[in-house]
Amino acid sequence: MDVEPYDVCVLGGGPAGSVAAALLARAGARCVLLEREAFPRFHVGEALSPRALPVLDALGLAESVDRRFTCAVGLHFTCCRTGRQRAVPWSLGLRGSHPRGWHVPRGAFDALLLERARALGVDVRAPCTAEDVLFEDGHARGVRARTPDGARVGFLAQVILDATGRDTLLGARVAGRQPIPGLDATALFAHFVGARRRTDHIGAFLEVLLFPHGWLWHLPLPGEVSSLGAVCSEAWVRARRKGEALEPFFQRTLEDAPAAKEVLAPARRLTPVQAIAGLSYRCERRAGDGFLLLGDAGGSVDPFPPLGLLGALEGARRAALAVEKALGAGDTSAERFELWEAWYRAQEARHQALARALYGGALETLLFDAPGSAGLQALASALAGDALDVDFTAWSE
Ligand SMILES: Cc1cc2nc3c(=O)[nH]c(=O)nc-3n(C[C@H](O)[C@H](O)[C@H](O)COP(=O)(O)OP(=O)(O)OC[C@H]3O[C@@H](n4cnc5c(N)ncnc54)[C@H](O)[C@@H]3O)c2cc1C
Repeated sequence: MDVEPYDVCVLGGGPAGSVAAALLARAGARCVLLEREAFPRFHVGEALSPRALPVLDALGLAESVDRRFTCAVGLHFTCCRTGRQRAVPWSLGLRGSHPRGWHVPRGAFDALLLERARALGVDVRAPCTAEDVLFEDGHARGVRARTPDGARVGFLAQVILDATGRDTLLGARVAGRQPIPGLDATALFAHFVGARRRTDHIGAFLEVLLFPHGWLWHLPLPGEVSSLGAVCSEAWVRARRKGEALEPFFQRTLEDAPAAKEVLAPARRLTPVQAIAGLSYRCERRAGDGFLLLGDAGGSVDPFPPLGLLGALEGARRAALAVEKALGAGDTSAERFELWEAWYRAQEARHQALARALYGGALETLLFDAPGSAGLQALASALAGDALDVDFTAWSE
């Protein structure tokens, strides 16, 4: 097996991997990226908050994203039990500087990022599956991978970035992957064409429908396509009948969400119903000697709040800065990445707090019962990901 030397080896060409690789290559690092799938490929997670703008700008992609994808103006909540509704537009947020986000079909969006990485000099190998990370005295030194024809390839690198998403190559092996108690929902989802959309004069809302088994999202994508999914409690998932296929189970789930049935009344399903169980998990550590776990590879919280994609992009941007400095100093030990990891922990804590507010009922009270707008302003800011801007790295300089 030939072994090729690089500065950085990135595993996974989703948003986290592509952004980190692109920025590192632009900074002069010799960078290889291994992606298992041929792009474009389907991926769930299509709501992109306004706070992604600095990352898109850094890659020179803001205009292209604005042109190609659906402009998103915020979230619109409906309680299926009471019929009460509340819009939480981004413009309500405390910072309000960029009131537009995007709804992005991930096949096209992820391909755009990967192409940008390639254009900036990343050696993109796809399809190519990373099989193992090789350690020497506890320090990550290389990667063993396989191409679709079965050939084995090897890479040496000073830093390995695991960006393999929920598969998290290093998560179970060295990073202590574990579920997050109380946030163990399952998502059922599909794409539809022709669903009723909720828009204002600027763009579309991401609809969140609260219903007895959890909550649903409805997210208008370019064309007449919509993404609609139900995030259901474990108790409801256990009520799935023996042998019941996903499609009828999804239909039965929607029976208890009249507002979702209304949205879908004129629509036709485009894709098979898919399910992802055990939505929330964390890793005990996101970094070690010679390696970092980016985006979902290092942990993921329930899709409410819809901030995982933003976390993947911004976390990758910050990882690229930390790795660039570490390479410059000739020291890629774990201590170099402690502040980066602290930043991620703070994000995870904020996401968990918002998810627990939804499942515990506090969010419903804030939306529909609390008089005044201060709480809603804070909520709009939190859902936009405003707190992402807090820069812990400044503390070390
Ligand atoms: C049901 C659901 C709904 C969601 N909705 C939203 C939302 O609306 N908004 C939002 O912000 N977030 C949402 N998220 C979260 C969001 O999808 C993720 O946070 C985001 O995709 C993480 O990006 P990533 O680059 O870390 O991982 P991914 O996007 O998963 O990319 C990982 C890549 O690694 C590749 N890969 C895997 N294993 C290997 C291997 N061994 N070798 C090589 N390549 C490999 C995969 O093919 C993939 O391309 C949702 C998540 C779920 C589960």
